[in-house]
Amino acid sequence: MLKKIYFGTNLKMYKTIKETKVFLDTLTDLTKDMNREDFELFVIPSYTSLPDAVKIENRGLVHLGAQNMGWEDEGQFTGEISPVMLKELALDLVMIGHSERRHVFGETDERENWKVLAARRHGFTALLCVGETGEEKENNISDEVLRTQLKVGFKDVPAERAFDGDTPKIWVAYEPVWAIGVGGKPASAEYAETKHQVIRDCLVELFGARGEELPVLYGGSVNPQNAEELIVRRNIDGLFVGRSAWDAEKFNDLIRLARKKAGR
Ligand code: PEP
Repeated sequence: MLKKIYFGTNLKMYKTIKETKVFLDTLTDLTKDMNREDFELFVIPSYTSLPDAVKIENRGLVHLGAQNMGWEDEGQFTGEISPVMLKELALDLVMIGHSERRHVFGETDERENWKVLAARRHGFTALLCVGETGEEKENNISDEVLRTQLKVGFKDVPAERAFDGDTPKIWVAYEPVWAIGVGGKPASAEYAETKHQVIRDCLVELFGARGEELPVLYGGSVNPQNAEELIVRRNIDGLFVGRSAWDAEKFNDLIRLARKKAGR
């Protein structure tokens, strides 16, 4: 069987409920001819859009996730959303440790770990984002930073919890902080591949040989110009796209381009 490739987008604090619904309807309609056996499509909208998002007509064609999650089931945590609440929406995945959570809201590796454990306890796929800052890259400590984020982030997750049967339930997004968002400079495919290899080796260290099966996605200024050279790299299993994905037609074009290059 062909190795799966993954395409997803985080809508951040963009799009109203109505805009999200239109985006999802358009995207699922445009991509409905693509065989989901070797392709995963996921979208991570705002919390307020989720109740309508899970009711879209083509729900089976897209995995839906939350951008963040509290680690306790309930309690005195004003402003937080718990795994139990997200479960009510029958979501598929929870994104944990996005660079903006870490660097704007000060989340630590330890807290990301609590969230990963809570996500797996409740059956969600945990999408852990990791990535070094520009300063850490300058200081030549990128590999150490990535290994720390992974080793702390996945602490106490046993290998069997990383899968549900054959389905990987731990996904990683490598998103160098200096490459993300407005003003970000995309990593070259060569550079990204070397860091994906570091991540891959660490996943094997943590989860044994099956660490090879866990998807590692690249994110950070992915666009139609660099998507093809990124997707063909051995350790890049998918693309996690921000700005270039928020127009459904453009995202569909990018996915088709990359899939074609990957021989699908
Ligand atoms: C992101 O913020 O996670 C991201 C990948 O954004 P962009 O593609 O816009 O750099």
